[in-house]
Amino acid sequence: MTDVWEYAPAPESRDVVDLRSEYGLFIDGEFVEPAAGGAFKTVNPATEEVLAAVAQADATDVDRAVTAARRAQTEVWGPMPGAQRAKYLYRLARVLQERARELAVLETLDNGKPIKESRDVDVPMAAAHFFSHAGWADKLDHAGYGLDPRPLGVAGQIIPWNFPLLMAAWKLAPALATGNTTVLKPAETTPLTALLLGEILQQIDLPPGVVNIVTGAGETGRALVEHPGVDKIAFTGSTSVGKQIQRALAGRPTRLTLELGGKAANIIFDDAALDQAVEGIVNGIFFNQGHVCCAGSRLLVQESVLEPVLDKLKRRLGTLRVGDPLDKNTDLGAINSSEQLARITELVDSGVEQGADRWQPDCALPDRGYWFAPTVFTGVSQSHRIAREEIFGPVLSVLTFRTPDEAVTKANNTPYGLSAGVWTEKGSRILWMAQHLRAGVVWANTFNRFDPTSPFGGYKESGFGREGGRHGLAHYLAV
Ligand code: NDP
Repeated sequence: MTDVWEYAPAPESRDVVDLRSEYGLFIDGEFVEPAAGGAFKTVNPATEEVLAAVAQADATDVDRAVTAARRAQTEVWGPMPGAQRAKYLYRLARVLQERARELAVLETLDNGKPIKESRDVDVPMAAAHFFSHAGWADKLDHAGYGLDPRPLGVAGQIIPWNFPLLMAAWKLAPALATGNTTVLKPAETTPLTALLLGEILQQIDLPPGVVNIVTGAGETGRALVEHPGVDKIAFTGSTSVGKQIQRALAGRPTRLTLELGGKAANIIFDDAALDQAVEGIVNGIFFNQGHVCCAGSRLLVQESVLEPVLDKLKRRLGTLRVGDPLDKNTDLGAINSSEQLARITELVDSGVEQGADRWQPDCALPDRGYWFAPTVFTGVSQSHRIAREEIFGPVLSVLTFRTPDEAVTKANNTPYGLSAGVWTEKGSRILWMAQHLRAGVVWANTFNRFDPTSPFGGYKESGFGREGGRHGLAHYLAV
C-alpha cells in the first residue's frame, strides 16, 4: 500500500463553448468577411487540434475599422455623457461575469493556460477592469486632469497572446471610459476570446464602431500602426516590436504607450518567511507557464539561505502538476505555440552551454502539444543569456547576493525595468529597496498581484506609459 494519494482526473467540460469553424472580423458592430478573403488557423497548443479558421485582416480591412471607429467617436461615443458610457461598461462587466465559464474554457483551449488560472484570474480580472473603469467615466472632470479633459479620438490597440482576454480588457476599459473608440488587434495564436468579446459587445448593444476587432498576424498590427487616422497606439508585446512601432511613429503626432518585456528580480533576504517566499517564487515564475512580462525570472537569494531555499523550492516543484490545461488540478499548462517552445528551448540550451546547472523535477509530459517542464538553473552568472534575456517560459535563473547594496546592483543590472519582488520581515528594508529598484512595480512579500486601480508599466526597455488606475486613464486624454 502506498501513502501517496493520486489525484483523480477533474476535467472541465468544453461543452459550454460554442466553437465555430470560421470567424470573421468585427467591424462596425458586425462580423464581416475580410476584403481579400484570407484566413489563418488557430490551434489548441495542448493537443495541436485546429480550433477554427480566423479571418486575416489586411490594410483595407484596417482602414474600414478605423473609419468605423472615427465615425462612432465623433457622432456617438465622444458626445455621449460619461454616465451613459459607464452604463455600457457596467453591462459589459456583468455579462463577462455571467459568461465567465464559457470565456475561461475558450481561453484555456486557445492559449493552453490552466483552467484554474483562466477561471480565477483572467476572466474575473477582466470584469474587474471594466467595473473599475466604469466608475471613472462620469468623474473625469473632477479627477485632476484639468477642467475639460477630452478623448484623443481613435486608439489602435495591439495585444499579445499571454493574457488574451485580460489584455483586451486592460486596453479597452480605459479607452472606452474616456470617450475614445478603438481598433483592437489580438495576437495571431489567441484570437478567440477577443472574438467572443465581439459577440458580447453585440449582446450589450454597444453602439456599432465603438470597438472593432481586426485579427491577423504582425502585418495587420503594422497596418494599424501605419494608419494615419489613428490618434494613439497602445502596444503590449516584445521589446523588438515595440521599438519598430516607435520608429514607425517618429515624426507623427500619434500618442504611444508601450508595455514590453521584463527580466524581474525576485529578491529573498535571509530574514524572510522562507515557506511563504517559496510560494511567491513559484507563483512568480511558473504562473501562466512563465508567459508573463513581469515574471520573477531572476531569483536573487541571500547567500546564507541559498541551501534551504533551493531545498524547499525543489521539493515544492516536485508537487506541480503539468498537463491537460482543462483539468482543474493542473498547475502548469501548455506552451502557447511551437515558435515559443523553440525560443524557450534555444535559451535553455544556451544556459547549459554557458555552464549553468539545469534542474527539472520528474514529470511526464504529454505526447502531443507544446510542453516544457519547470526548470531551475543554478550556478548562473550575470553575463549568461538566461540571466539577461526574457525567456517567457517556466525557467528560473538563480543568483546570489550578500548585502542589500549588492542585491540592488544585480537586480538593476538589466536593460528591463518592469517589476521586482522583495521578501523580508523588515518594513524599512522594503521601503529602501523600493526606492532603489528601477522597476515600475515592486511587490513586497508577494508577487504577480494585480489590481485595476494600480498603475502598471515599466522603465527602460520595458516601455513607457502606465495602464490601470488614474495614471492609465491619463494616456487616453488630451489634458
Ligand atoms: P510580438 O511582440 O511579436 O507580438 C505582440 C503583438 O504585436 C501581437 O499581436 C503581434 O501579432 C503584433 N505584432 C507583431 N509584429 C508587429 C508589427 N511589426 N507591428 C505591429 N504589431 C505587430 O511577440 P511574439 O508573440 O512574437 O513573442 C516574442 C517574444 O516577445 C516572446 O518570446 C516574449 O519574450 C516577448 N513577449 C513579451 C510580452 C510581454 O507582455 N512583455 C508579450 C508577448 C511576447 P502576431 O501575434 O500576429 O505576431
